[in-house]
Amino acid sequence: MTTGTRSEAIDGEIAQTRHELLVQNVRSSTLPTLLVGALLAGSYAYFEGLPEAWWWWWGLAVVLGGRWLLLRPDSGVAPKTVSLRTLYASLATTGLLWAAAPLLVFFAVGENAVFTALLLTIGIAIAAFGSYGMDGRATALVTLPIGIAVLVTSALSANPAYYAMGLALPLLYAHQFFVIKQARKALEKQIRLGIENAALIAELNAHAEKTSAELDRRMETERVLRASRDRAERLSATDSMTGIANRRYFDSRLKSEVSRAFRARSSLSLVICDIDFFKQFNDLYGHQQGDECLQVFARVLQSYCRRGGDVAARIGGEEFALLLPSTDHTAALRLAEQARAGFDDTAVPHAGSKVKGNATASFGAATFIPDSSNTGDVLLRCADKALYRAKDSGRNCVVSFSELEDDAAVAG
Ligand code: GH3
Ligand code: MG
Ligand code: MG
Repeated sequence: MTTGTRSEAIDGEIAQTRHELLVQNVRSSTLPTLLVGALLAGSYAYFEGLPEAWWWWWGLAVVLGGRWLLLRPDSGVAPKTVSLRTLYASLATTGLLWAAAPLLVFFAVGENAVFTALLLTIGIAIAAFGSYGMDGRATALVTLPIGIAVLVTSALSANPAYYAMGLALPLLYAHQFFVIKQARKALEKQIRLGIENAALIAELNAHAEKTSAELDRRMETERVLRASRDRAERLSATDSMTGIANRRYFDSRLKSEVSRAFRARSSLSLVICDIDFFKQFNDLYGHQQGDECLQVFARVLQSYCRRGGDVAARIGGEEFALLLPSTDHTAALRLAEQARAGFDDTAVPHAGSKVKGNATASFGAATFIPDSSNTGDVLLRCADKALYRAKDSGRNCVVSFSELEDDAAVAG
């Protein structure tokens, strides 16, 4: 909301509140005014022999009755739809009727009888300040005719008591005017504060919504970016044909596992394996069938990676590796043997193999606890050496490399 529209809204709200208060108070003042009028008319009719006083009261009753009918809560007319002009007209008529009261008594009965008329009329004027004070025009329409009538009556009388009453009246009016002005200011301030607070809350809410939407958008972007980065990382680490880790990932894991094992003084095992007579397999069954055989072998190897740190990777054409952190040599040999037997059990037919009627693989295993001079290359070379020994030893077997003996023991 701009400053301009906000101040318009404040002015509108103040005008509306003033209107509603006026309607309410005009309505609620009907009965007391009618009763005060009846007291006045009754007392002059019965005690001063002035039955015509009832005519005055009937006039008052018609004006008040009409306005009550118009403003009564169940009239079907919403208070704010009663026009200000109608309200002002009814108040002006009431003011004039009350102004007429002391003058009528003065001329019809005489100055001695006018006291009650003056007193009740002044009372009505003071009450009007309290009831309609929020609207200066409405207050003036009732209180000005009464004030003039009281002053005129006092001036016409030869009674000093009435002169005093005439003098007191402007003072009372001035005081009421001051009191009403203060009350009006306080109410306007309250309305202004209420509207400004509501606008502030709306602004804050809008800002908060915007910020939260922006935050959501950024989080979503970040999620998408992270997902695509993860996917890219996964792809760059995966061998597309077999779905297991590729050479790149294997190399980096080998390096980091060597460092970890060096720090922890723990043993690191590596098993390298290679399908036997695979060239013949391709020649016999075709390249595509060869690919499927590689996939079967990869699945078998992956199924033996049971611990979190274990890695099965394709590190060459038909050459694979099992990297086994915190695994001693015995356990590595056992695992290699299980993998060898596992692949053998899949019984992928291989009529061209000189080992047996199905595809087999040879395994070389090496284990070390790295010291500062040992790198992953050393372990790789040792496992490779064991693998070639396995090939030399008839294939479809596991050969262990023992660094100490610089020799190999054949198993399987
Ligand atoms: P050995 O028992 O001594 O390991 O004999 P081998 O025939 O398995 O070994 P060699 O290194 O002579 O042949 C490996 C073959 O693996 C040759 C190549 O065509 C095949 N090869 C390498 N990568 C792939 C591949 O991605 N798909 C298929 N189908 N064949 C592959
Ligand atoms: Mg081979
Ligand atoms: Mg090979």
